[in-house]
Amino acid sequence: MVGMDSREKSSAEVLATPVQFLKGVGPHRTEVVGRLGLSTAGEVLFFFPRDYQDMTDRREVTDLEEGSLQSVCGVVEEIDLRTTGPGRCILGVLVRCRTGHVRAVWFNQPFMREKFSNGQRVMLSGKPKYEGLVWQMAHPRVETLAEDEQEPTGEILPVYPLTEGLQQWQMRKIVRAALETYTDLLEEVFPAEYLEAHDLWPLRRALPEVHFPSDHESLEKARRRLVYQELFILQLALAVKRHRQHDEHRAPVLEATALIDARIRRLFPFELTAGQQQAIDEIAADMGGPMPMNRLLQGDVGSGKTVVAVYAMLLAVAHGYQAAMMAPTEVLARQHAQTLEKLLAAGKVRRAQLTGGLPPKQRSAVLEQIAAGQVDLVVGTQAIIQDDVSFAKLGLVVIDEQHKFGVRQRATLKQAGPYPHYLVMTATPIPRTVTMTLFGDLDISTLRDSPPGRQKVNTYLAGEDKRGQWWEFFRKKLTEGRQGYVVTPLVEESDHSAAANLEETYESLANGELEAFRLGLIHGRMSTEEKDAVMDEFRCGEIQVLVCTSVVEVGLDVPNATLMTIEDGHWFGLAQLHQLRGRISRGSFPGFCCVFAEATGEESAERLRAFTSTTDGFELAETDFALRGPGDLFGTRQHGLPPLMIADLRRDTELLNEARRDAQTLVIADPGLSKPDHARLRRMMMVRYGKALELGDVG
Ligand code: ADP
Ligand code: MG
Repeated sequence: MVGMDSREKSSAEVLATPVQFLKGVGPHRTEVVGRLGLSTAGEVLFFFPRDYQDMTDRREVTDLEEGSLQSVCGVVEEIDLRTTGPGRCILGVLVRCRTGHVRAVWFNQPFMREKFSNGQRVMLSGKPKYEGLVWQMAHPRVETLAEDEQEPTGEILPVYPLTEGLQQWQMRKIVRAALETYTDLLEEVFPAEYLEAHDLWPLRRALPEVHFPSDHESLEKARRRLVYQELFILQLALAVKRHRQHDEHRAPVLEATALIDARIRRLFPFELTAGQQQAIDEIAADMGGPMPMNRLLQGDVGSGKTVVAVYAMLLAVAHGYQAAMMAPTEVLARQHAQTLEKLLAAGKVRRAQLTGGLPPKQRSAVLEQIAAGQVDLVVGTQAIIQDDVSFAKLGLVVIDEQHKFGVRQRATLKQAGPYPHYLVMTATPIPRTVTMTLFGDLDISTLRDSPPGRQKVNTYLAGEDKRGQWWEFFRKKLTEGRQGYVVTPLVEESDHSAAANLEETYESLANGELEAFRLGLIHGRMSTEEKDAVMDEFRCGEIQVLVCTSVVEVGLDVPNATLMTIEDGHWFGLAQLHQLRGRISRGSFPGFCCVFAEATGEESAERLRAFTSTTDGFELAETDFALRGPGDLFGTRQHGLPPLMIADLRRDTELLNEARRDAQTLVIADPGLSKPDHARLRRMMMVRYGKALELGDVG
């Protein structure tokens, strides 16, 4: 590049070259590539493979062995697609190779049929198994070879996410071209000594290898470098954010003196569990200092988070400060207000409720009291964070069920005076690696134990042959006075799925197994009034069995209901199953839950096995995470953070720990990232997370 132009372009400018100027893209493919979110050369360089096709072990059919990943090349000779049941089919593709045949098979993936035609040249990669008279590969990777294309030998090829109108080989070509032209322009973000000390490859070496690895070892090294960088930048942003919160704001010092502690504790009608005690200790330590508390309290449904929050609120009130508690729904806000009512009936603590449904007159009266400091505790919904709400002396904000708000959307409450302490509560157990990333700027308290006397729920996984027996048991318990749920998955009526239809289930139970009992029906498409009416009838025992979709997940609390039948359990996610089961562990009678499910695949079988083997929500969260990845609830996007491009929190746990430690060390040494050596890191951090994490003008 040097001297090519009188005005030399910076590398950043060159990397911003529009994709249409890349070899292999051109004007006609710009739009297609654009659909993948790629508009510049630089973006193409960092468009990582989602997987690799390992063709390092190329074999002739006569040399195939069972057990390991191998590849064969050949010509498609015969294709057959057979239906084997409702929603089930087997696709078989017979491939003729030089020294014999291999049959590729796919189960329940009829769309794969379209990928093949007779006479087509293909390469299959999979684990071969000798079935009957022929070698078979189940669900192999398929690479289509052009008529005249050489058979690839001993390579690990990248597999990119694609879009319609773009072939894998075309994408590879585009990336290869981008690497050839632009790799040398990439700037290294880490100082050379840093790379050395942390066993990291330089970027210019790592990037080509992550796209087109020379071997497995290089791929590992290259990936390590890029994953580390991605996680490090995120952890750096979180550490900077935390540091700034501590550094910039001052919160009131609210110490839990022995006297205050005794006075608060006296209000609770039970002994605190060890977990509650520890959480309270951690909170009291935070609130007793001048730095604002920023703590996440996580515990399964029913683990007793409310008491911990109440302690914190009363600690603020004891020092003459106000405390606010925000719930995601009116129902939950009202429930919290009732809890406080019960605990504080005899005391002098002044309370108010602030929800959306409040008549304007009442609302403005409450607002006045809040602003004048005539109220100590405010419980409400998002109505609390409206613009016209202003606190006289706010010391603590508690946010319940945070995941429903989106975590980054931290409530900002108006108050005169110092910055309040924050306590965020979530009832969804969160996998550990996720707390370290999405919640990495918070301190965490966890309630693992539950209050004594909780009844456990016996959970069974059953096949069709056990139905009669289960309903017999169900009826016996109903006769003893218990109530129950029958839950069916929420699916549109469609001929593809054999999932139980809610109304069908209701009809067949009402005229069959449960005809002697009073049944009710509830689902998401009913109006709120209709739902409330049914729930009331169920609550008072008028309805004995509630046939429902997963709407019962939310909020229904009927201690006498101890039975649950879950139909088509394979349709439910693990977190959802766990929440459902939570409905029948609320009273003094033990719960019984039976899941009926079809075997639809290894993952769903694993999920159901986990569900029946433990009632520990944290354990289930880890299993779910391992099986499924971060999913909806804990995906970065749902939390307003940009997605991780290469790191996988399931497999990169070690690197995450390492990156987190290193980032924290760096921020302690150079909080503003103002040393020249850190300028590039700072820039990268700001570009990626500045806005999402509100890092403002760091540096
Ligand atoms: P969650 O964590 O789901 O918010 P709650 O705070 O609503 O749980 O508590 C669930 C129930 O357990 C409530 O009825 C509460 O009074 C009771 N509870 C909480 N802590 C204890 C305890 N230490 N001993 C006995 N009961 C408790
Ligand atoms: Mg709660």
